[in-house]
Amino acid sequence: MRRLAITVIGGSIAGLTAARLLSQAGHAVSVHERSAEPLAGRGAGIVTHPGLHAVLARCGVPVAPRDLGVTVAVRRVLDRDGRVVAERALPQVLAGWGRLHALLRETLPGDAVRLGARLVAVERDGDAVVARFADGGRVAGDLLVGADGLHSSVRAGFLPGVAPAYAGYVAWRAVVDMADLARATRAAIGDHFAFCLPPGEQILGYPVSGADADGRPGARLFNAVWYRPAPAEDLAGLMTDTGGARHALSIPPNRIRPEVLAAMRAEAERVLAPPFADVMRRAPSPFLQAILDLEMPSMAPAPGVALLGDAAFVARPHVGMGVTKAMEDAAALTDAVSAADGDVRAALRTFDARRRPYGAAVVARGRELGAYLQAQRLGAAERAAAERYRSPEAVMDGTAVPPAGLTG
Ligand SMILES: Cc1cc2nc3c(=O)[nH]c(=O)nc-3n(C[C@H](O)[C@H](O)[C@H](O)COP(=O)(O)OP(=O)(O)OC[C@H]3O[C@@H](n4cnc5c(N)ncnc54)[C@H](O)[C@@H]3O)c2cc1C
Repeated sequence: MRRLAITVIGGSIAGLTAARLLSQAGHAVSVHERSAEPLAGRGAGIVTHPGLHAVLARCGVPVAPRDLGVTVAVRRVLDRDGRVVAERALPQVLAGWGRLHALLRETLPGDAVRLGARLVAVERDGDAVVARFADGGRVAGDLLVGADGLHSSVRAGFLPGVAPAYAGYVAWRAVVDMADLARATRAAIGDHFAFCLPPGEQILGYPVSGADADGRPGARLFNAVWYRPAPAEDLAGLMTDTGGARHALSIPPNRIRPEVLAAMRAEAERVLAPPFADVMRRAPSPFLQAILDLEMPSMAPAPGVALLGDAAFVARPHVGMGVTKAMEDAAALTDAVSAADGDVRAALRTFDARRRPYGAAVVARGRELGAYLQAQRLGAAERAAAERYRSPEAVMDGTAVPPAGLTG
């Protein structure tokens, strides 16, 4: 087998998984991450799926699925007064992003990831793909893997017109120590994947492991995501920070204006079931994200260049597939490289043909599930989806459940 020199841009979930699997397959891999600080220890909660556990096992991570996080057996929907209006048995393991990242990082040697390495350009030099970094560094290889996320520099270099689009609504995210919540809140939602559906809005929440992956009930955290419509003019106000600077689509949590936070908490008291209002009241530093999605015309946008994870397709979070998709992309790329015996061009053709339809299906599913949250911008097809996915039963059946028949 031909041993390739592979340059991975981004040291998050997609990048680390690709680095681990491609090294295992015998290639020489280097990882370059923009952040100067290790990423582990950050992040909130994720929903895990069988595909995630399968790739994690392939990476050699010796953690059984149930030990990755907290197992929740039942979903429930609360009405405005906190009454349970619908329930479903649906066992799932809910994990902390930081724990998953740390487990993947441990599969690689200590010096495998170069931190503080911000990619600024990708160029070709004969058959080689050359990555250039802000610190003046230059790395040449046979294959460059763009695993650099939502605002990918690799993507921007080759597909300048392709960028994430705002979906017309935002998410307030909150992570709070379970022990800080009221006893009644813990009893109502602390052991469940729980929802509340105010008109045109949605909040969901679930328990995840606490610090050091401690999943015991007293040490857990509660992770909540509250979706609210926000037309462009409201978004501008939400994304204007304490210093008056306007951010486009996300704002650092410590720069959110106090009046914006206070208004959000007042609205939580007004529209949410009391347990969810309690979560938003007690969360120490809620943060705000604009909901985006992105479809990709090609996951191999240039010879010797692959795009993985959020650098390729970004689905709205209702599908709960971002991390699973990123890890499966990395596994599929490795399989394609192995099957092509090091012929990069053939490998990328196979990879793109296999993963692009999958990415498109996940994005489409996210749009269906989120249609009723963007009521002000709907066409006929979206209006039909909005009606289909509005009921408590449909929300419970569809949210963070891989679409039926999805293979990739
Ligand atoms: C710190 C952090 C915490 C997160 N927490 C959660 C969470 O709690 N729940 C959840 O569902 N999702 C979370 N995500 C997002 C989640 O990881 C992704 O949606 C999904 O897993 C796809 O992963 P990815 O590796 O493709 O992209 P990302 O996770 O976005 O990673 C992209 C990486 O590329 C790096 N990068 C970007 N540009 C450059 C450049 N020019 N040069 C070099 N490196 C670059 C970024 O710093 C980042 O580490 C988090 C991401 C990060 C980075």
